Amino acid sequence: AVERGGQALDRLIVDVADYPQPGIVFKDITPVLADHDALVAVVGGLATAGRDADGAVHVDKVVGMEARGFILGPPVALDLGVGFVPVRKAGKLPREAHAVTYALEYGEATLELHRDAVRPGERVLLVDDVLATGGTAAATRDLVERCGGVVVAVAVLLELTFLPGRDAVAGVPVTALRPV
Ligand code: AMP
Repeated sequence: AVERGGQALDRLIVDVADYPQPGIVFKDITPVLADHDALVAVVGGLATAGRDADGAVHVDKVVGMEARGFILGPPVALDLGVGFVPVRKAGKLPREAHAVTYALEYGEATLELHRDAVRPGERVLLVDDVLATGGTAAATRDLVERCGGVVVAVAVLLELTFLPGRDAVAGVPVTALRPV
């Protein structure tokens, strides 16, 4: 469905120049969310990263990063029949959390994960909207590993292929529905 709807999907991803700062082309995916057919195709496409070739689900949890991983992650988790865990920006989680600080494409950030949210040995699929430098995905992988879990796959709607995002999560397969 993602292949067939590829052109339609591209039209629903809006480039916003110089946002949130000069030199950055922000990929606005909110029109994708607003289109039911596109949303179904995207959620189904991202969920394939959590399945083997024979369709068997090989992950125990979906972890999504604030904020757009909170939108795409839960429907992917429902599709796979597993739970969803949020990775939040600093100071938002109410209980004991692991914290990792990292560099963004623009700025710096700290991400946090409840210590008991991923159990030792659990296999995790990371879901976000955009893979840029890979800093967010690498920091989240760190957080999952501090809990004793293992990130077995990364799924994103968009991959900025002019940036080395994949290298930041070396050894983990990345599924990108639209490489740009
Ligand atoms: P990075 O850590 O550099 O891979 O950046 C990924 C995170 O920042 C994702 O959570 C994205 O939502 C956001 N992001 C980075 N670059 C962009 C961009 N050009 N357009 C939209 N979101 C972006």
